[in-house]
Amino acid sequence: MPAANTDNIFSLPRIPRPDSVTTRYRSVMEVIDAPTKLEGEGFKVRRPFPSADMQTADPFLLLDHLGAVEYSPGEAKGAPWHPHRGFETVTYIMDGAFQHHDSTGGKGLIADGATQWMTAGAGILHEEMPTEQLIMQGGLFHGVQLWVNLPKKLKWTQPRYQDIASARVLLLASHDAGAVVRLIAGDLAGHKGPGVTWTPISYAHASISPRARLETPWPKDFNSMVYVLAGHGAVGPERRPVREGQLAVFGAGDAVWVEADMRQESRSPSLEVLLLGGSPIREPVVFYGPFVMNTKDEIQQAVDDFRSGRLGLTPAVSIEA
Ligand code: MN
Repeated sequence: MPAANTDNIFSLPRIPRPDSVTTRYRSVMEVIDAPTKLEGEGFKVRRPFPSADMQTADPFLLLDHLGAVEYSPGEAKGAPWHPHRGFETVTYIMDGAFQHHDSTGGKGLIADGATQWMTAGAGILHEEMPTEQLIMQGGLFHGVQLWVNLPKKLKWTQPRYQDIASARVLLLASHDAGAVVRLIAGDLAGHKGPGVTWTPISYAHASISPRARLETPWPKDFNSMVYVLAGHGAVGPERRPVREGQLAVFGAGDAVWVEADMRQESRSPSLEVLLLGGSPIREPVVFYGPFVMNTKDEIQQAVDDFRSGRLGLTPAVSIEA
């Protein structure tokens, strides 16, 4: 996959192996099979959260895993103009590309290992579509979108963007160089990723070679989850088996443990995982489609503001007006 990579893993800064005597590895609380949903114009995603209990993922709201899929010509679909308020969307594309436009006139291409971080805050309209080339010719697509909640005091912040090019992602190696870790945001073992976050989180994509093990310190006050993008492996000191499309939720501790099985599939020679966690916000969450607020009244206000154009106008609507 063309996600950020290196041709010399031994040159990368290492994540030191946690001390086996003093470290409390986080054990696995549950493994969830991500259900399949239809999103946007009707493309399939796997959505490991939200689950019934919104507390499990806090400060995260939603994770959508799109692909890996080999589109036929004419098959690629996206999400046409829609609003957001009250949180941040983090779109990480490993293969293929998404074209983005928004109601402030912003636009950009997210492709091949890049991340777009959009703070919707007080509100914005945008569209997220495959490129013309991907629609016409078909091709490989693999990406994820993570929704990060904002605390009450930041829900009305001005919209902002961070475009994190593939080359800016911080590459790290595990202690024995059996895994490469792409740190997108937050801290990992004292290293800092490029993403600037309102809500403290750590977010990384690791490729773990067959039989290798990634052990990494993880902030005590963060929750911790591992989502499997591809491959087979095991998590936690109890070595609970996990495979593509499964989310492991960890309990308390200082460090996370993920290892790859010896046998992997030819289409993905390594175990590919997202490591994610953050500082729980612990506020009421009212989730209504593209709006995430603290009360039902605030949701009603978001719906009214959207209908009356106060979240912004799409270019087409602006022309008609
Ligand atoms: Mn969106």
